[in-house]
Amino acid sequence: MDEKVLVTGCNGFIALHVLDVLLSEKYHVIGTARSQDKADQVKESFKKLYPYAQLEVEIVPDITKSGAFNDVFKKYPDIQHVLHTASNFSFGHDQSTEEAYLIPATQGTKNILETSLTLGKKVKRFVITSSFASIMDFDHEGDANFIHTEATWNPTTWEKAKGNELSAYIASKKLAEESAWTFMKKHESEVPFTLTTVCPPYVWGPQMFDSSVKRGVLNTSAELINQALKTTPDFKGPFDTPNGIGCDVRDVALLHVLPLRNEKLAGKRLFPVNGTGVKQHNYKNARFNMQRVLDVLNKKFPELRGKISKGGIEDNEKALAAGFYYNNDETCKLTGIEFKPLEVTIHDAAKQILEFGSSD
Ligand code: NDP
Repeated sequence: MDEKVLVTGCNGFIALHVLDVLLSEKYHVIGTARSQDKADQVKESFKKLYPYAQLEVEIVPDITKSGAFNDVFKKYPDIQHVLHTASNFSFGHDQSTEEAYLIPATQGTKNILETSLTLGKKVKRFVITSSFASIMDFDHEGDANFIHTEATWNPTTWEKAKGNELSAYIASKKLAEESAWTFMKKHESEVPFTLTTVCPPYVWGPQMFDSSVKRGVLNTSAELINQALKTTPDFKGPFDTPNGIGCDVRDVALLHVLPLRNEKLAGKRLFPVNGTGVKQHNYKNARFNMQRVLDVLNKKFPELRGKISKGGIEDNEKALAAGFYYNNDETCKLTGIEFKPLEVTIHDAAKQILEFGSSD
């Protein structure tokens, strides 16, 4: 088979798992990375797992530059699928929030869609890594009568969000996804490909390669487990933040690849959530805060008891009830996936850090 899939930002936490699924399915993968070093590292790491894989990594230094992907499509005019994962997901930038979040998310999405339309004559499926950020409605956090689903849209605006890094990141993801659906509508008669978006909440689980843990720098979401492992028994908290819902990186990766084969996923927003599935309707299982992470670590790793914090919240069910209410039945039914439980995700990520990382 020579079915070519382009994966932008292929060295990212989620993208490396996406590559793993694609290569195990014998797709011909063309990744993009910002530097040769990063490209070489991706190729080197996968060579050990899949010695006969077809994997190229092209350098795209800046996805926000007009025509950023032109050379890639000129080199591989027969790309059949595009998985756009690249976007900034780290905080503490000395740029404006517009430069750090809005432009990479929206302009990067616009560029890759436009080039896929003009130069990608064979593109059939297009998948974008969006986020629960584009679903969540902060005005209804803790509101049991407001259920977030695949049909919910974050009502935030750039004007409202731009003054704060986190809210700017959230708004940038919403605006990027919205602009992608608008693009599809506007070019309805000429676009030869379908669009699916994946809207994950907090993504965690093991790094694709143990060597990433050794380097000690984990991506933003995985770092919370690292932080919990670094606590001491006298840690004073806070234990009630962040109050979020999670999903497993391996499930998120699978959701990026399923639309290439399953046409029922065309035009859909997919919403992965820990511990949900066609037969599982307990819509609080994926909620977490620092207390819940510590509870899982203390339960699953007896050797850590007395070394890390036990937390300090008596009634965590009550604390977690302040989080988002959700229902991802549509995604479960369409994909048939039983999403990994939160305990499994936390356990597997922590095990890898304990085996291969240093907690300082
Ligand atoms: P990573 O930071 O691990 O990966 C992000 C990737 O995007 C990297 O390859 C990075 O390149 C690339 N990138 C960022 N900015 C640019 C830019 N301006 N030009 C070119 N490439 C860029 O993040 P994740 O894997 O966690 O996230 C991937 C996607 O998933 C993002 O779109 C994020 O918004 C989304 N997401 C993540 C969640 C999570 O909890 N992790 C939750 C919901 C959505 P480089 O390595 O060179 O910086």
